[in-house]
Parts: sequence; structure tokens; C-alpha cells
Amino acid sequence: ATPRGEAGRRLRLGVMGGTFDPIHHGHLVAASEVAAKFGLDEVVFVPTGQPWQKSHKLVSRPEHRYLMTVIATASNPRFTVSRVDVDRPGPTFTIDTLRDLRAERPDADLFFITGADALAQILSWKDVDELWSLAHFVGVTRPGHELHDMGRDDVSLLEVPAMAISSTDCRTRVGAGNPVWYLVPDGVVQYIAKYGLYAAPANAADLTP
Ligand code: ATP
Ligand code: MG
Repeated sequence: ATPRGEAGRRLRLGVMGGTFDPIHHGHLVAASEVAAKFGLDEVVFVPTGQPWQKSHKLVSRPEHRYLMTVIATASNPRFTVSRVDVDRPGPTFTIDTLRDLRAERPDADLFFITGADALAQILSWKDVDELWSLAHFVGVTRPGHELHDMGRDDVSLLEVPAMAISSTDCRTRVGAGNPVWYLVPDGVVQYIAKYGLYAAPANAADLTP
């Protein structure tokens, strides 16, 4: 039997890619809003492997980012987490994410969700023409970033509640001893504290160059 969404139509699968270092409420609100507006049956969060845009920076180990994503999404029955990027060796390219998910879920229509900053980079992505054939793209508003209409039918733009939160700011806060309560889910606050993420050079073993 082919998987069907509500009312017997093809399954509509949102794909929320990110470094998620750490995952925060900006990511979760974006996914929830797109799911509601586009009638998605499920949103799969896909933490990156070593992100190629950020390979010059320190990024927490994929396993930490994967587990924080699981914790943050566990309470929502429509949110799931995929290991396709974490388990693929080498830097993550969105084209590979979409190819792998397409192979795993051949009967689903994919909706790739990106914030305004990431959408602006889309045209610089590798194999951009194949990207359009694999998924419909949904660009969401993000404070501090312009959301440009790309004039394409396969890209939709959506205004979502403004969450002026970034993972970079969360990391800086933790490093400075400032709270991240209410910026990230409670379980993620606790996970960060438990493993001493973002805290000090003493935790350098939790980072990969
Ligand atoms: P960093 O500061 O490390 O780059 P980030 O907060 O930008 O982290 P990412 O993991 O880079 O988080 O983002 C994953 C996806 O979520 C991207 O498409 C990004 O545009 C989107 N996104 C992140 N934060 C927000 C937000 N506050 N509102 C809307 N979209 C967001
Ligand atoms: Mg980012």
C-alpha cells in the first residue's frame, strides 16, 4: 500500500534542514507554521553532518545536535528526525538530503523549509536545477533578513511569527553564562547543561573542527 495523508491524498512531507547547534523555538515555530499552512502530514527535521558553509567554524558533534533535535521535537506527533545527513560521510549538501529522503519516501511530496537567510543562498547551491525537481521550497520570514520573491512557482513565501532567535546567539549566551530558557525547549536547556556544550574550552572534546 502507498502511504497516504489525510483524505487519501499523497503524503505531504516537510523537510526542515539545519545545523541545530542548538535547535531553538525559531526552528520549531517555522516548521509548525509551514505544516499548518501547507497541510503537511509530517515534518522531518534533518540535522546536518559537517556543514560545508560552516566547516571553518566549530560545530558541536553531530550526535549532540541530533539528540537535541529529538528532544525538542519529541512531544509533537507530526515531527520526526532523520539521520540521513548525520550518517552520510563528508559535508552535507541539500541535494543529497533531498535525494536520500526521496528514495526513502518515494510516495511523498517534499516541502523544503528554509528561513529567509538560507533561501537567499539557494541559487548558490550545488545542482540547483535538480533541487527544484525534488521538492517544493517554502521560504519563511526571519527577523533581520529580507525575504526575496524569487519569481518561481516552485518557491512559496510565508510570513511566520517573528522569533529573533539564532543558534549563534544561544551559544554566545551559554558561553557568557546568560540564560537560554524560553529560547530553546526546556529539555534542550538541560541537555546543554548536562554535557557542558558551548561553555568553555574545557569542553573542546565535544566540538569538531
Ligand atoms: P546559526 O546561528 O548557527 O547559523 P541558526 O539559528 O541560523 O543557527 P540554522 O540551524 O542555521 O539555525 O538554521 C536552520 C534553518 O532554520 C535555516 O533555514 C534558517 O534560516 C532557519 N531559521 C533559523 N532560525 C530561524 C528563525 N528565528 N526564524 C525563522 N527561520 C529560522
Ligand atoms: Mg544559520
